[in-house]
Amino acid sequence: MPSHRILVVEDNPLNLKLVRDVLTVSGFEVVAAPSGEEGVALAQTCEPDLVLMDIQLPGIDGYEALRLLRQNRQLDGVPVVAVTAFAMREDRERAAREGFDGYIGKPISVRELPSQVSEFLGNGRSDVR
Ligand code: MN
Repeated sequence: MPSHRILVVEDNPLNLKLVRDVLTVSGFEVVAAPSGEEGVALAQTCEPDLVLMDIQLPGIDGYEALRLLRQNRQLDGVPVVAVTAFAMREDRERAAREGFDGYIGKPISVRELPSQVSEFLGNGRSDVR
């Protein structure tokens, strides 16, 4: 079975390394970008199956990056999941309202991340979560 390709947009090198290591060990292929602009550009070419989008980024933030991603019809059907340290109900609701397909709170759970990602891959895009 071909492995799923996950585009991780994350500006913090330690967080990125953690996510990359955990997902790689679990059999996912990881492509990474350190900013929203680079993430949007990379998404056009790397054919991701899922995007994990940090919200707090240098330059454009995760919400703006999501808006740009959604303008690309080629990425229709690719779930984009918000990743943010603000583990508050309010942020979870904003992520859903802004059109993210899901939400993962920081700190990332090494134990739970692979199953979280698998679940989002299985669900695909949905407008309500
Ligand atoms: Mn960040």
